[in-house]
Amino acid sequence: MPKYLHIVLATGLRQEFTYLPLATSDSVPAPAVGLRVRVAFGRSERVGLIVGMGDNTTFDANKIKPILGYLDTTALLPPALWQLGLWAAEYYQYPTGDALMHLLPAKLRRDKPNQLIQLNWQLADIEPDFGRAHKQKALWQQLQSLAPAFNLDQLQKQNIKPSQLKPFIEKQWLSTSQPQPQAVSLQLSQSPLDLNEEQAAVVSHLASAHHCFSCHLINGVTGSGKTEVYLQAMAQMLTTGQRILLLVPEIGLTPQLLQRLDARFNNRVLALHSGLTEHQRLNAWQQANLGQADIIIGTRSALFTPIPKLGLIIIDEEHDQAYKQQEGFRYHGRDLAIKRAADARIPIVLGSATPSLESLANVSRGRFQQWLLTQRAGGASKQRYEVIDLRNQPQQAGISLQLQDMVGIQLELGHQVLLMLNRRGFAPSLQCQSCGQTAQCPACDANMTLHRRPPRLHCHHCEHQQSVYLHCPQCNSHQLKPLGQGTERTEEQLQSLFPNTPVYRIDRDSTRNKGSLEAMLAQVHAGGPCLLLGTQMLAKGHHFPKVTLAAILDADASLFSSDFRGPEKLAQLLVQTAGRAGRENIPGTAVIQTYQADHPTIDLLVTKGYNAFAQQELASRQQSGLPPLGHMALFHAQAKDANHAFTLLNWLAQQIQDPTLADLTRSLLMFGPMPAFMARRAHFYRAQLQLQHPHRKQLQQLLQQLCTRLDEHPGARKIRWSLDIDPQELG
Ligand SMILES: [Zn+2]
Ligand SMILES: [Zn+2]
Repeated sequence: MPKYLHIVLATGLRQEFTYLPLATSDSVPAPAVGLRVRVAFGRSERVGLIVGMGDNTTFDANKIKPILGYLDTTALLPPALWQLGLWAAEYYQYPTGDALMHLLPAKLRRDKPNQLIQLNWQLADIEPDFGRAHKQKALWQQLQSLAPAFNLDQLQKQNIKPSQLKPFIEKQWLSTSQPQPQAVSLQLSQSPLDLNEEQAAVVSHLASAHHCFSCHLINGVTGSGKTEVYLQAMAQMLTTGQRILLLVPEIGLTPQLLQRLDARFNNRVLALHSGLTEHQRLNAWQQANLGQADIIIGTRSALFTPIPKLGLIIIDEEHDQAYKQQEGFRYHGRDLAIKRAADARIPIVLGSATPSLESLANVSRGRFQQWLLTQRAGGASKQRYEVIDLRNQPQQAGISLQLQDMVGIQLELGHQVLLMLNRRGFAPSLQCQSCGQTAQCPACDANMTLHRRPPRLHCHHCEHQQSVYLHCPQCNSHQLKPLGQGTERTEEQLQSLFPNTPVYRIDRDSTRNKGSLEAMLAQVHAGGPCLLLGTQMLAKGHHFPKVTLAAILDADASLFSSDFRGPEKLAQLLVQTAGRAGRENIPGTAVIQTYQADHPTIDLLVTKGYNAFAQQELASRQQSGLPPLGHMALFHAQAKDANHAFTLLNWLAQQIQDPTLADLTRSLLMFGPMPAFMARRAHFYRAQLQLQHPHRKQLQQLLQQLCTRLDEHPGARKIRWSLDIDPQELG
């Protein structure tokens, strides 16, 4: 029995705390690393994790308190995930307690035992007499369709709650048992599609890549059949009795992928995503942990799911920003998944039509193996690009006359048209015609967006909402006009231009209600001519076989972004949107409307394609030492007083000049402190300090030193500061 327990808590503090163990007895387990404990902390009670044990402590032994109790008898996380959590905490300089707790389902971060919710029920072979209990009789008859046994999943599909079964269990008409893990085997319910040579090469290579770490980038044009490659690689893995983790950017946006998984495999597929309740999430986590699912599909955080006999990880749309957590524990899901695969010595597959420059750089360095899929599956031809120069074009509500004509022709042919405008709401702002003032958010340095349904001014940065003014708050004029185009306004315009064609608007507002996206997609897939209008949600992996024209209404919005990733993000959005056009036997056209028709990024994309663009962009990043050729970290500070955030970052910049750190800072580039792109958001003034370094290891050592100094600096306590390592967004 160790004398002391070293415990981490999710308190935002980087240190470990020391407590005394409880005396072991029949009801009290022996302490072990990984167990959750309840402890007194200050005046409150907290849940902590044991990270170490020993007989020595640097604290005053008389002041060390015993823990209040254990919450588990065995460690919750398997050793590999525990190690991944520790590694990630160190890499992202995030407090260990907060990082490890992040790996657990929310319910287990609190004072909840890890009791299995997952049960199996068996029906007794009897015909009970229900008398007048008609409801019970109906329920019993409903259960008969599941006889002789069923699980929670089947129960939920019948819309029955486990609590409704209680009376039957009491009368012993139903018995319960814990489900046992079953062996994984391939259960195909649909035969695989024929592969072309390029696809077949990946699948057959992956078949020989089991049980050792290798990283594969499937760089395939949209419509090249990446999903079929995933499915066949998964099938191979299942035949060897190993499980699969498939990560996607957003599950709500990929109903088609889920349908294909269900149609292809009779295997147990489990979906983990943010739409689950805490209860459902814990349940799914337990199922995965027990090996009751063979294929786990989920968003970013599903990467932390415990999966026995994990044999393959697949990351679809690996370039997507959604894999990076943008607040709190700012980890990159793709990068941690690669680390997990390396630790587990298994292959990992990344797929995209527009791979991130990070992954392409890893291909150049020989770390990833690249597989090019250049053919569109099913013989669909490649889309043709057309750039419309808005400088010489009359337009209505952001749609040029030339584009209107093109849309009209496609609709008359009975085809579908997709229009992408990456701004939701009616108009990006409301402007006074007398004094020029735009509607400013009271809490941010930003315009409020004008919405019509329902009418309101809405700040998309802090979610502040207010009613639309009737007169200008500055000069009292009634001459207020919507400024610019949002999807709601373009929708109105399209309805008046094409009154006989349905318009489906797909953005966060129109898809907020559960099932509304699915309902619209079902209408689109019914196949009649229609107009699909939406934000970048539309460009995310949906397959629209009847779309022959895809147009980007405003390519300029991100062309002049001050973020060095601006061109990369724009290129990905353009190519992904263009890729929606012409996916069956009809050739498609992709239209780009821009005031910058001769901009080099647009020109290169249109004439040479994404890969040529990416190589040029990589060369330019190399010259500036920018990621992925150099390494970057960003300190953020925010405070209600404009000066406080700067004071802290100025202090930090001075620390960096400290001669004792000279070995680490010799090749360092420092920018700032400077205001964030949005200098004030949600009432907070925001500043940042950007660090660039050619050597990862030295940068990491420096950051560790700086975080330690920040922790000890009294001035840092009143100010919210955070560190973003490998930031995806600047500011
Ligand atoms: Zn005014
Ligand atoms: Zn705001």
